[in-house]
Amino acid sequence: MRLVLFGPPGAGKGTHARILGEKWKIPHFAAGDILRRHIREATEIGKKARAIIERGELVPDTVINEIMADQLAQTEARKGFILDGYPRTLGQAEALEKFLEGQRETLDSALYFKTSSPVILNRLSGRLNCPKCGVNYHRKNIPPKVEGKCDRCGAELVQRADDQPETVLHRIAVYETETAPLLNYYNKRGLLTEVSGDLEVPELQQELAKVLARYSKSR
Ligand code: AMP
Repeated sequence: MRLVLFGPPGAGKGTHARILGEKWKIPHFAAGDILRRHIREATEIGKKARAIIERGELVPDTVINEIMADQLAQTEARKGFILDGYPRTLGQAEALEKFLEGQRETLDSALYFKTSSPVILNRLSGRLNCPKCGVNYHRKNIPPKVEGKCDRCGAELVQRADDQPETVLHRIAVYETETAPLLNYYNKRGLLTEVSGDLEVPELQQELAKVLARYSKSR
């Protein structure tokens, strides 16, 4: 199973990518998590990416394409993968397609998480993120078991700098101009599957189990 998950910020891509990866026992690669790891470790990429991410803009295609190609070249990705937040531009989608062609592989589907603005704003304003393992929580909807601590690794949860209201609005605008064209791109290739990002996690998981059933049977 080779899947791309795309949609506006706050659509729930990260949460569902993680659950699907565990269920299908295939790796999920979250572009934003990888970039935040670079920032934490103060690598050259991290130093350049920090200001860009905090402004709510996209890091250059060349940088992210190289990072993601490295991830996909790992042996664990041979049996399948879930990409969360990559590709995010047409240039990235083309680079991914070329990369997979080189591996004699193709995507099975690009899942578009269609999500309404009030849901996005509510999710992002209450979102808490584990800076260590990347898991997302929500103050009200998905609270951690112990307040302020990650259920998985115990690290202190934080509000992401780019989840501040002004930056969120900019990220949504960037999504509309840079990422929304992927709808047409994947539709033309017969790969597009639309699901509702407005659904709560269990309901959308049920929906995903239905739409992805044909792949589980064939692989
Ligand atoms: P995310 O965790 O997916 O919300 O990503 C957080 C931020 O990381 C984005 O707002 C961008 O600044 C950067 N980023 C993540 N994925 C990409 C990508 N595919 N291309 C460029 N920038 C990205």
